[in-house]
Amino acid sequence: MVTKQKSIIYKILEEAGRPLTREEILNQGRTELPRLGSATVDRFIKQMCENFELVGLSFPGQPTRFELPAEKEHPHFICRVCEKVFDLDIPMRLPKVTLPEGFHLSGGEVVYSGTCPKCDGKAIKAS
Ligand SMILES: [Zn+2]
Repeated sequence: MVTKQKSIIYKILEEAGRPLTREEILNQGRTELPRLGSATVDRFIKQMCENFELVGLSFPGQPTRFELPAEKEHPHFICRVCEKVFDLDIPMRLPKVTLPEGFHLSGGEVVYSGTCPKCDGKAIKAS
């Protein structure tokens, strides 16, 4: 069943073309549907993740962001000034790893950082 709220979340992520936090999804969703509630957004995000319609991305010290599943693995880029995360359309493959006993692999991420075109030249936040 595709509800209006769910199709709005889908549209926002599709148009953004980069991973968004739940706040970004909520704020942009409210421009389409002013009555959109945060609990509703949370519920759909959870549901869509469970159905593999959304992929959660979490980087240390950052809120979880969500994106639509990509057809191919791609690295991400985090801007150190505005802290937006972008998809990099670069084909890549994560190296195969052999983990020590007792570890189970559930995913991997390649993340580059620097400044985005909008923030180019601005000072990078010291953190
Ligand atoms: Zn930026």
